[in-house]
Amino acid sequence: MPEVAPVPLAELTTLRTGAAPERMRDAETRDELVDALRDVWSRGEEWFVLGGGSNLFAGDEPFDGTVIRILTRGIERLESPHPGRARVRVQAGHDWDDLVAYTVEQGLAGIEAMSGIPGTVGAAPVQNVGAYGQEIQETLVEVELIDESTGEVQTVPASDLGLGFRTSVLKHHYGGAPIRRAVILSVTLDLAVVGEAGRTIGGEQLRRALGLAGEDAVPLAQVREQILAIRGAKGMLLNPDDPDTAGAGSFFQNLIVAETVALQLPPECPRWPVQPDLDAATVIPLENFDGYVPPAPTVRPEVKVSAAWLIENAGISKGFRLPRSRAGISTKHALALTNRGGATAGELAELARFIQARVHSEFGLLLQPEPVLVGVEL
Ligand SMILES: Cc1cc2nc3c(=O)[nH]c(=O)nc-3n(C[C@H](O)[C@H](O)[C@H](O)COP(=O)(O)OP(=O)(O)OC[C@H]3O[C@@H](n4cnc5c(N)ncnc54)[C@H](O)[C@@H]3O)c2cc1C
Repeated sequence: MPEVAPVPLAELTTLRTGAAPERMRDAETRDELVDALRDVWSRGEEWFVLGGGSNLFAGDEPFDGTVIRILTRGIERLESPHPGRARVRVQAGHDWDDLVAYTVEQGLAGIEAMSGIPGTVGAAPVQNVGAYGQEIQETLVEVELIDESTGEVQTVPASDLGLGFRTSVLKHHYGGAPIRRAVILSVTLDLAVVGEAGRTIGGEQLRRALGLAGEDAVPLAQVREQILAIRGAKGMLLNPDDPDTAGAGSFFQNLIVAETVALQLPPECPRWPVQPDLDAATVIPLENFDGYVPPAPTVRPEVKVSAAWLIENAGISKGFRLPRSRAGISTKHALALTNRGGATAGELAELARFIQARVHSEFGLLLQPEPVLVGVEL
């Protein structure tokens, strides 16, 4: 796994910022990836892995460490233990949308609504990617990963990854470290075999997006085609000819707040209930039961609030730019911060801070960035 001449991260990330790191390695096979990680870890170097660079905001100063580019490829189709289902095991560096296209072609349902999300398969569980009501956690069975603390490769079930709304134990959230420092080597999904007939769309969000009224089955290829068209119109499909796509998708996350906080927002602000993560029922074997019944956990209802609404109603509209800045909000989507050509990370960070400050002063809420920040402060 040769060290390669470091390439500026501006050329490898969709926000198009970032200097060349100190060192860079390319890993084209799973073994090269494992060897590169173990080698870097044994030297105690700073490091991070790079997939498609579509969820990364890199700073203007060179990263003082090693960036390992994951370039592994390959899809294996496997048997599923469940009737009417099939599995795919996919190498981490494989292009996500290429995988979606493959599953649609094979008549395998479960990720078709996530057509057009940029990036790699290995990064998808890191923030539990999702779109139009589908999330990878619905079909993810397990990942093969390597932990920094032990250097060991393990197969880890999806239930151990702490998957939640755009998060997992592997994600590096702004202002904190990941709970588990590990790199995904491959991902296994369990999908429904539906063939060409497709299937009835259950989720309300997807039905609405596709304009479906009846209960008819919809071919997967049609779902994919329509989703790609919708995403293209919103500037959420990478396109070198569309400057609104030179971003990282949604730069700010929808906020999850207590119901009491949401009640103080104007009633027009869109909001959705968040399913509480209820603890599984506690089973006390009869022979151990001493008459004490533990109290039920108190669940404080939470609500997801539209960050796009907060931004636009803080007086910042689509297409907004600070004077003389080359960073701007997409003309199609209030949540997408974009590089309008040659913007530095400093310019994008200035815009992000301006938006955070406006929203905070209007509504008292602090927007959190969704991409991983490396060498940038907000
Ligand atoms: C136009 C556009 C639209 C988008 N739309 C959506 C959307 O609809 N839904 C959505 O959820 N996201 C969306 N995104 C965000 C992004 O596409 C996803 O988060 C994607 O999964 C990132 O993949 P990547 O390979 O580019 O990750 P990178 O940007 O390369 O990396 C992101 C983070 O994951 C880590 N990482 C990468 N690979 C691995 C690995 N194998 N193991 C462990 N850590 C790893 C990196 O170190 C980094 O911290 C969008 C982005 C853009 C630019």
